[in-house]
Amino acid sequence: MNTLNVKAFGTVAPEADLKEMTINRRDVTSNDVEIDILYCGVCHSDLHTARNEWGGTVYPNVPGHEIVGRITKVGNSVTKFKVGDLAGVGCMVDSCRECESCKEGLEQYCEKGNIQTYNGHDKHTNQQTFGGYSERVIVDEDFVLRIPENLDLAATAPLLCAGITTFSPLRYWNVGPGKKVGIVGIGGLGHMGVKIAKAMGAHVLVITTSLAKVEDAKRLGADEVILSTDKVQMKSHAGTLHFVLDCVSAQHDINAYLSLLKRDGSLTLVGAPEHPLPVAAFSLIPKRKSFAGSMIGGIAETQEMLDFCGQHNITSDIEMIRMQDINKAYDRLLKGDVKYRFVIDMASLKAHHRV
Ligand code: NAP
Ligand code: ZN
Ligand code: ZN
Repeated sequence: MNTLNVKAFGTVAPEADLKEMTINRRDVTSNDVEIDILYCGVCHSDLHTARNEWGGTVYPNVPGHEIVGRITKVGNSVTKFKVGDLAGVGCMVDSCRECESCKEGLEQYCEKGNIQTYNGHDKHTNQQTFGGYSERVIVDEDFVLRIPENLDLAATAPLLCAGITTFSPLRYWNVGPGKKVGIVGIGGLGHMGVKIAKAMGAHVLVITTSLAKVEDAKRLGADEVILSTDKVQMKSHAGTLHFVLDCVSAQHDINAYLSLLKRDGSLTLVGAPEHPLPVAAFSLIPKRKSFAGSMIGGIAETQEMLDFCGQHNITSDIEMIRMQDINKAYDRLLKGDVKYRFVIDMASLKAHHRV
């Protein structure tokens, strides 16, 4: 199999900084497209994985799964894309395509395990997959998304993970007019959750730990905002919400957020902290509450989300960074100090000759 050397940024150990490296990718096979990466969002999952917080990271690791760019090459059998098209890639690059979940368009729940954009296993090269912190990527066209032409391209990149990860559970739990929804943790995921839930027609309550985000959350579309550290504010909203989407990346008391649900309400976790979150039986039993989880979304649903965002003019609020500033960006991400997603301008990697 033909392979290519590609410039990338990655890490070789949990405690190491990310640095420039050369990786090896497969050349396009008949169903693949090659994408010249223009922008890549920085998801908190990139940091969890680079630092092996969930276990199982294979090094070297090149993160990045909010990829947008332009197609530069197509394989012989490719029908959906042509050279010059805009394209996006999210958290998955393949799946078994045969199991019940894959057949239902829920590739993210593939029974054999979906193939992740990074730290997955590339069937073609038999090595780990490498993500979007790089010049280009080669992906099977079935896992490549069309990007709405009316949206700012850099601000569209975060939709590929943060957008779909919030859109999918909001849809699945029927968020819309007449529903009161709580969004917890206003980072990359949470701020997209606010915009999308609002566009779906729900009444949105933001629950944040950051005083600095209280006013700003209203600008994002929140109807109401409360500080989770203020017990009086939390108590005044107890038992009022149909649905809560928890987008928190670190340890937090889940019981406090469950108390906000009405009878038969659900709290869905998309945030993936390193350690278990204890749930008290009596946070769930008395009002028949549910505690659930949700992972990204299938390919068809990701396209639906992008089209929805195109129609509603929804993009991410971003802070553009150079590839070389990624380690500083990770430090700020850990402090919740980003409004609301870092996006890497990949021209900085391509142009960079010396440190
Ligand atoms: P992020 O931008 O860092 O946002 C996380 C937010 O959580 C922070 O901005 C902060 O919001 C809140 N927070 C942080 N520490 C907290 C604490 N100790 N207690 C309460 N709130 C706290 O991260 P992200 O990229 O949105 O990702 C969020 C989580 O989702 C990560 O764990 C990530 O791995 C996971 N994720 C899951 C999926 C999935 O498929 N399920 C997909 C992508 C990402 P406030 O300042 O408003 O409090
Ligand atoms: Zn992500
Ligand atoms: Zn499958």
